[in-house]
Amino acid sequence: MNFPFRPLLRSMLVFTFAALSACASPSIKPDTRERHPLLLISIDAFRPDYLDRNLTPTLASMVTEGAHAPYMLPSFPSLTFPNHYTLVTGRVPDHHGIVNNTMSDPALGRFSLSNRSATSDGRWWDGAEPIWVTAQKQGLRTATMFWPGTEASIRGMRPDHWIAYDGDITSNGRVDQLLAWIDEPGKKPMFDTLYFDTVDHAGHEHGPDSPEVNAALVDVDAALARLVAGLKARGLYDRMDIIVLSDHGMAYLPPDHVIFADDIADVTQLDEVSYGVMATFNLREGSGSAKAEAALLAPHEHMQCYRKGDLPARFQYGTHPRVPAIICMAQTGWTIVSHAGLAKRTSPMSLGEHGYDNQDPTMRALFVARGPSFQPGATIAPFPNVDVYPLMIHLLGIHGESNDGHFDEVKDALRPAAR
Ligand SMILES: [Zn+2]
Repeated sequence: MNFPFRPLLRSMLVFTFAALSACASPSIKPDTRERHPLLLISIDAFRPDYLDRNLTPTLASMVTEGAHAPYMLPSFPSLTFPNHYTLVTGRVPDHHGIVNNTMSDPALGRFSLSNRSATSDGRWWDGAEPIWVTAQKQGLRTATMFWPGTEASIRGMRPDHWIAYDGDITSNGRVDQLLAWIDEPGKKPMFDTLYFDTVDHAGHEHGPDSPEVNAALVDVDAALARLVAGLKARGLYDRMDIIVLSDHGMAYLPPDHVIFADDIADVTQLDEVSYGVMATFNLREGSGSAKAEAALLAPHEHMQCYRKGDLPARFQYGTHPRVPAIICMAQTGWTIVSHAGLAKRTSPMSLGEHGYDNQDPTMRALFVARGPSFQPGATIAPFPNVDVYPLMIHLLGIHGESNDGHFDEVKDALRPAAR
């Protein structure tokens, strides 16, 4: 159980050492690396093997011109909001507090992706400080063309440029908005984000091997080509560091791969928090609740349930107060529902899902990076996505917050002069 504390201890040691060396050794060379603007691009649910479909020539040229890893490991659970916040904080979901896309908190109520008053409430997010807040506190400007958390004032700050999430803005439209912010007179943003969701939507609706996913790959690559052309026209393409990544992959979900939790236990005795790939419940007082808990915790086909303190250590999950008492995980390619929930559904079941065991190969994420700091042609070993944060902190030359990542694991993506 020492893993939750190790990273914090490590960063405290690093900080202490840095403070000591700053005082004791005035002869230490200052960091004179040139700073470049950094653009972080997320293509939601882009599985790294999608590159092999030869539908994304712009991304393929970034792989050739820059550095990449065969894949990046998402954090658990392999869901959108938890992983996007991990990428910008360097902390696993259990340590930053966005522990699921659907959560409950005794003080704050319910959080879900469609609940705009919750997603824009900084109290859900302030368990960690996102990099745009840290950068702004240290004098850098930021522009975020969507990223989970950017709609909320976190620790009193929003990005310098941001807009409320609007799924109707096309991939090209998002590129144009970011370029418009870059064009504004005055101090230029040094940290930007861009977020594309068409690949995720097509993957959920039609499955990862569908023609619709292929069409979405073409759509996103065209937007990347528009971005590259726009940056080149401004003389910025070779002066900007660009990281293109995804939050998680996508697994095929056959329509009949459904597990009914209410056939297994009397779930009316529990407080349901979420259903789906991960079904989570809180307990109530009384024997009915304990009986339902025992029924869930017994062995089942295609589903395993745990008490929050009993999850395998490699998930690094279960200490945060927002993690419900019981976590039921579906086997990859399955989902957990209730008869009542299914009857209320207005949309067809998904043919693609994520949120499974983060070490399942279908959950792997993309990592490609190019620009003046990155080593052309470098292939680095697969790494966990907590390492992106210390990499970005290094590139921006700012002081980061304590985190679970390790710069050493990703530094070989950089040119020697940029390390
Ligand atoms: Zn996602």
